[in-house]
Parts: sequence; structure tokens; C-alpha cells
Amino acid sequence: MSNFDFDLSALLKETALEEAREALEEDTYDVECPYCNKEFEAHQGKNICPHCKKIVELNLEINL
Ligand SMILES: [Zn+2]
Repeated sequence: MSNFDFDLSALLKETALEEAREALEEDTYDVECPYCNKEFEAHQGKNICPHCKKIVELNLEINL
């Protein structure tokens, strides 16, 4: 008999949160470049504007 000495619901919850975080990080958002004011798709973190090639940092407040 195997003895499951871990909390399965806690593990599942953690996995779900991790997946949600990963999904958010992979998502892209339409942002307006603060330098050239053109829209482009950015993801969480540092992006390079395809129009003016400047670094645009996208910081999303993620509190899961
Ligand atoms: Zn730009």
C-alpha cells in the first residue's frame, strides 16, 4: 500500500497557480510604445519595440 503523505489539494492548487502564472507570462498584450506611440504586442518583462527598437519594459502587477 502506498502512503500518500502529501496534501493533494495543496499540490493541485500550487500547480494551478503555477500554470496561471506561466499563462500570464506567455500572454502578449497590446501596448503603446512610450517612445514612438505606436502599438505593438508585448509580453511581461523587457520588450523591444519593433518600430523604434527601444526597450520597453512591461511590468504587470501579478498577485496570485
Ligand atoms: Zn517604439
